[in-house]
Amino acid sequence: MQLKNPATEEIIFELPTNSKKEVQAKLSSLKNGQQEWAKRSVKDRLKCIEKFGALIHENSEALAAILTAETGKPITQSRNEIKGAQNRIDHLSENAERWLADEVLVNTGATHEKIVYEPLGVVANISAWNFPYNVGYNVFLYALVAGNAVIYKPSEYAAFTGKQMAHYLHLAGVPKNVFQCVIGDGEIGQLLLELDFDGYFFTGSHATGVKIAQAVAHKLVPVQLELGGKDPLYIADDVKDVKQAAINAAEGAFYNNGQSCCAVERIYVSERIYDAFVAAFVSEVASYKVGDPTETTTFIGPLTRQQQIQVLQEQVNDAVAKGAILKTGGHRLEHKGYYYQPTVLTNCNHTMRVMVDESFGPIIGIQKVTSDQEALDCMKDTDYGLTAAVFSANEERALDLLKAMNTGTVYWNCCDRVSPNVPWSGRKNSGLGSTLSSQGIRAFVQPKAYHLRQS
Ligand code: NDP
Repeated sequence: MQLKNPATEEIIFELPTNSKKEVQAKLSSLKNGQQEWAKRSVKDRLKCIEKFGALIHENSEALAAILTAETGKPITQSRNEIKGAQNRIDHLSENAERWLADEVLVNTGATHEKIVYEPLGVVANISAWNFPYNVGYNVFLYALVAGNAVIYKPSEYAAFTGKQMAHYLHLAGVPKNVFQCVIGDGEIGQLLLELDFDGYFFTGSHATGVKIAQAVAHKLVPVQLELGGKDPLYIADDVKDVKQAAINAAEGAFYNNGQSCCAVERIYVSERIYDAFVAAFVSEVASYKVGDPTETTTFIGPLTRQQQIQVLQEQVNDAVAKGAILKTGGHRLEHKGYYYQPTVLTNCNHTMRVMVDESFGPIIGIQKVTSDQEALDCMKDTDYGLTAAVFSANEERALDLLKAMNTGTVYWNCCDRVSPNVPWSGRKNSGLGSTLSSQGIRAFVQPKAYHLRQS
């Protein structure tokens, strides 16, 4: 498999793809390895994960360079991702033993009762390229700590990063018959669906997620899907500082070139502050440095996938044809690399695709609203349910709106944020099941109920 640098369009890595026979052999070896791994204590398994974190930290400069080379992520953001993902390891270290401990419910009288959390077995993790450390750790680290073995399939756009993570897990003491990385495109993903896994954990698009759920439904094993979103942000008329709200909203929309599952994808602004907000927002976006992702001051690099340029252009053309105003951007950059200008559209409404279809790139639509109710109706008008955000000086006002949202996560005066303390979950077309927090580790275990009577 050839991996291209999206900034230069040059081939940077070549990796052999795994054959069907090799993948089957990996699965067989994992089935043996998992039994021994599960017998080790949680503390012992955690030690390997902590060592892995230390190794990633020691090698973070080289790993950030690889991530930037294969995905086009600006180097500062690659460094941030690798550093930030460590919070999952710290959180597991602090909590996993407690989360996985037996729960004794009745220990008096003739019959004692308890719950024991057993691992699922060997699970498949089919992952995405946009935040390979974050979304990978959310699945495979929690799965390993819970006593599972894992086959990890990184996206073909982050395959070298995936290989690196496997290398450092093995170096840290996770046995090769407990964690394996498979390299290939969607076809290898398809093959994993045919093999005999004890659970499927997928991060990616809604379309692929549905295909996976359908393909493995007959196996009756756990399936978890972390999918996309069309996440709304409402700027109420009482925000204390309109300029600061615009800066924060723009970062939520454009960080990682908008290629975040929880990126702000549409903005509703109260008519009373609309003009001031739009002026500050456009000025902020126009100030972003677009260009070479290896430069530390670059904020917008190339898109990871060339084909997304057409998706973005079609959304922009459709919006403009329906009356949107193009305030900045609107075209790809006419030089090497998959660059698309950061783009702001105003005067938007829900007849436009940019307000209803996932963009997953550096474009944003802004719509004027006249009331909280109108903002809420617009925010709720979506098939997705990942996150929703409200910026307002009034907590009660914001919470009233956020309570009405059918999303896995809500934000007050912040956005585009993930924390290991709380579950990460999507509703409706944004997915099924949770990662992170105590809920995230429960995804990788099955409870066994013990009823114990002395005689
Ligand atoms: P895809 O759905 O195209 O791919 C995701 C993974 O599935 C890749 O590893 C891919 O392999 C693999 N795959 C593709 N086709 C199949 C198949 N038929 N059977 C099994 N596996 C398959 O998504 P992207 O990689 O393009 O990621 C972008 C999408 O992911 C966005 O929609 C985004 O919103 C969503 N996402 C959601 C997150 C969340 O937490 N909710 C986090 C990150 C992304 P390959 O790439 O090798 O073809």
